[in-house]
Amino acid sequence: GRWGFGLAGELRQAAARSPRRVAVIDERRQVTYAQLLDRAERLAGALPVAPGDRVGLLCRNSARMVEALVAVTTRGADPVLVNTGLSPGQLATVAADQGLRALLFDDEFAPRVAPVPDVVKIGEDRVEELIAGGPAPRRTRPPQRPGRTIVLTSGTTGVPKGARRPTPGGFGPLCSVIDRIPLRAGERVLIAAPLFHTWGFAGLQIALALRATIVLRRKFDPAAVLDDLLRHRCTGMIAVPVMAQQLMELPPPAARPALRVVAVSGSALPGGLATRFMDRYGDVLYNLYGSTEASWASIATPADLRSAPSTAGRPPHGTRVAVLDEDGRPVPAGAVGRLFVGNEMLFEGYTSGASRAMHDGLLATGDLGHVDADGRVFVDGREDDMIVSGGENVYPAEVEGLLAELPQVREVAVIGVPDDEYGQRLAAYLVLRDGETLDPEAVREHVRHHRARFSVPRDVRFLDALPRNATGKVVTRELPR
Ligand code: ATP
Repeated sequence: GRWGFGLAGELRQAAARSPRRVAVIDERRQVTYAQLLDRAERLAGALPVAPGDRVGLLCRNSARMVEALVAVTTRGADPVLVNTGLSPGQLATVAADQGLRALLFDDEFAPRVAPVPDVVKIGEDRVEELIAGGPAPRRTRPPQRPGRTIVLTSGTTGVPKGARRPTPGGFGPLCSVIDRIPLRAGERVLIAAPLFHTWGFAGLQIALALRATIVLRRKFDPAAVLDDLLRHRCTGMIAVPVMAQQLMELPPPAARPALRVVAVSGSALPGGLATRFMDRYGDVLYNLYGSTEASWASIATPADLRSAPSTAGRPPHGTRVAVLDEDGRPVPAGAVGRLFVGNEMLFEGYTSGASRAMHDGLLATGDLGHVDADGRVFVDGREDDMIVSGGENVYPAEVEGLLAELPQVREVAVIGVPDDEYGQRLAAYLVLRDGETLDPEAVREHVRHHRARFSVPRDVRFLDALPRNATGKVVTRELPR
């Protein structure tokens, strides 16, 4: 229809078809599709911004965040999804960099928002006032141009970059994913991944397109999430891999949740975790590989994960994955190269004007990987993370996978550190399971047993926890050197 297929269009469709269905359940309230649309449209009509403005959203997962997202795009303004983990300084930098006109935030972030100059600040009470005074929904006209969502990268390599996501031109791209992941209309889906991150945001698009009942919780807490899954009889869950890992650290639940689909994305899913998770919760795990820039590149089904636990699966319909060498030539099956992706959902560029390398319509993901003879994709790590030790290439993810096999080990990160003799040497950081101990030499011996000696970490350190960002990625620059 004339509202297009963006978030606003999907919410309108859902509200027209299933007005009384519960759209969102969060810790404070639950709203039906009709109520959600009504609030979002009143807010859209009253927001003190103009079409084309950028509006930062600094919110945890809640009905407010969904409402705000729809309201801003309905207004024709561009929502900028801000990571809730940013420091006050980073927030001010992002606001200036992205040219934010306004910032809509949860009250808990008020102290961080206060010093940001030159933006209209919209806290919780203000939103309620705007909604109460907003025009009746039928007076809200569709914008000339629906807002385009801007997702910020987590900035593991510097200042977060704003990536402009395209508004889906149709249901095609979403269908290609839903095709592989058997979520059906009207299911109850818990979105645990943060909505400000590409994966949570994509999950929200899928859930709205399916007119699902969406369960949200402000912060991830494994015990509370398990409780929600049971209490709200959720059939689907959208998460990042470290959340699956934390759920596995709880004692097995007395009753198994009614889950049919647990879809994880955003960072590598360790093969051992995939297997253990399915042994406990059933063959319900889906691993999606993608990025803010590329959207979805491949999807592993439970059957794929049973046959090759560390695979990222196969490209969905309409997506092409290529593994190329340094000169842009395809490499043979099984050989590691640079991963490229092409589909209808590639990002439209960074707000800074910067772009990403392309080859023949395919986008460079920045990852290294391979495709096996069966057509399964494997992500071997980021190009930037590759360690060159004594002239040999080492993929940290491969060594991490090996170390994760040790029964004492809960979490592991491997990085390269400068070395006078070899250029770089490997450093391993381990978090052990409660009550376990491990000798550094046993760690080295385990690697030496399976791999060439240049893959053996010379530095082995034990930590209480790994530094992670809001999406569960290890922030390597915060590891102690
Ligand atoms: P950054 O600032 O680090 O780019 P981000 O967390 O904001 O990060 P994303 O676009 O979500 O940005 O990160 C995408 C990257 O995460 C991929 O290029 C890949 O390295 C990794 N990744 C995502 N999903 C998977 C997966 N299923 N398996 C392996 N790696 C994955």
